[in-house]
Amino acid sequence: MNIVIGVVVFVLGTAIGSFLNVVIYRLHAGGSPLRGRSRCPHCKHQLAADDLIPVLSFVMLRRRCRYCHKPISWQYPLVELSMGLVALTMMLRYGLSVESWVGTVLGAFLLVIFVYDLRHQLILDRVSIPAMVAALLGSLLLKRPLTDIAIGGVAGAAFFFLQYVFSNGRWIGGGDIRLGAVLGLALGWKLLAVSLVLAYFGGSTVALFLILTKRRSWSSQIPFGTFLSLAGIVTFLWGNEILVWYLHGGFFDWFVGAFLRFYNPAV
Ligand SMILES: [Zn+2]
Repeated sequence: MNIVIGVVVFVLGTAIGSFLNVVIYRLHAGGSPLRGRSRCPHCKHQLAADDLIPVLSFVMLRRRCRYCHKPISWQYPLVELSMGLVALTMMLRYGLSVESWVGTVLGAFLLVIFVYDLRHQLILDRVSIPAMVAALLGSLLLKRPLTDIAIGGVAGAAFFFLQYVFSNGRWIGGGDIRLGAVLGLALGWKLLAVSLVLAYFGGSTVALFLILTKRRSWSSQIPFGTFLSLAGIVTFLWGNEILVWYLHGGFFDWFVGAFLRFYNPAV
């Protein structure tokens, strides 16, 4: 029975992902994400129901539009699969509870920010401001302490605002400030700190990898909203475990152990 529920949640997640693809496309190309039929971005042919089945249509059409045969972007199945995975993981972590619903809605907003910042190096107010409202409502539904929510929201915004001021807006934009507020409101201040550490750790690891493999230079822009959004989802799921692991020395044991094994495999 649990497997059936899991499959249903995953399929519903991919359907939400399909909607998020429309949102991402229309945020960039214009038009209301809530009205109008879906069309092929190349030939503008109106898409039929069987062109719009999440993931499956992409596979069955072999990556090509049925009408003009131009390739369909990998973004479509990847966002659908990712949203399916987010919804499923929330359910596996929190069961069919308010937590998993709040986490899925937050995950949907963060996935849009993840993709949009990766593709366009921009976090739009039209996404981040509704996300702030959703994050606040979610935390109120989850009965997080009000001080925790308030301090989190202010600290998240202030953290990026200070960097914005000191860098003259070169590597931090207004969108990052609002995304910081989203994470603080959604997670509270302690888990906000966890998500920031994860985002910086992930961001610098990926940046270093891209520089070492000569795919980017030191002066390249890294879409930080992408890492922040991913870190937000991971922290919503496992932030408390990460915090306990970190505070009780597990992290340092693991880190020192990995270091020793690397230099002396006999350890
Ligand atoms: Zn087409």
